Amino acid sequence: MTADQAPGAVPAADSSQVADHPWRPGRFMVIVAHPDDADFGPAATAARWIDSGSAGWLVCCTSGDAGGEDPEADPLQLAALREAEQRHAAEIVGYAGVTFLHQPDGALANELALREQLVREIRSFRPDAVLTHDPEIVFWSDGGVNHTDHRTAGLAAVDAVYPAARNPMAFPWLARSGLAAHRVRRLYLFWTERPNAWVDVSATLERKIDALRAHASQINEPEKLEERIQSWAGDEGRKIGAPAAEALRLVVIDEDEEHEGPSD
Ligand SMILES: [Zn+2]
Repeated sequence: MTADQAPGAVPAADSSQVADHPWRPGRFMVIVAHPDDADFGPAATAARWIDSGSAGWLVCCTSGDAGGEDPEADPLQLAALREAEQRHAAEIVGYAGVTFLHQPDGALANELALREQLVREIRSFRPDAVLTHDPEIVFWSDGGVNHTDHRTAGLAAVDAVYPAARNPMAFPWLARSGLAAHRVRRLYLFWTERPNAWVDVSATLERKIDALRAHASQINEPEKLEERIQSWAGDEGRKIGAPAAEALRLVVIDEDEEHEGPSD
């Protein structure tokens, strides 16, 4: 599917974007539901931007305390293990840091308390762009259901970005205590079925695979991991004539003042 076939594509989407996406945020934040989502998601894009000089921060809404098969397992021990795995993976990608919001795995709710936590993170790190789950996917077109936490984390991130983070009167105690309103200018939604931006990640796909290996508690068939990731990235890469790419759905909230997006 090309960008101009995507229903309701953002105005900036046109066929000229079916090439390596040229815009790079100076600072970006990745907001996900679980440890490992960011690494199965846009890790190679994050690594590429970081290698080019961007600063990235990762926020995990839950610590994945229900991500196992054993009903006797201690969820707190599992959460601690998964946080350690995610911190290791985040070092491999190159994030400046990771925040865990310690919301309950499998029961994430887009409520004001979560929105306030996310607004705090956004106003503290002050990213130009936020990357998160595409919250509009309930059912995948090739079968299956998108996890409730993925939908919820995506929608909570969108709601925190706009309008709460930029509105000084939203959670006014935050502004009063020094966390001034902040305008995130772009959203990049991953695991989307309406992509309109492809990032060439040929140089950083290995880092994504290494980061994924750090989530040992979640990888059932590590020997197949590399092939699986290379196959996904290869399919997306073909759309822009690159060996590997990650596909994202870009939503521009504020246009750049001096120079916006593709130069052609
Ligand atoms: Zn997940």
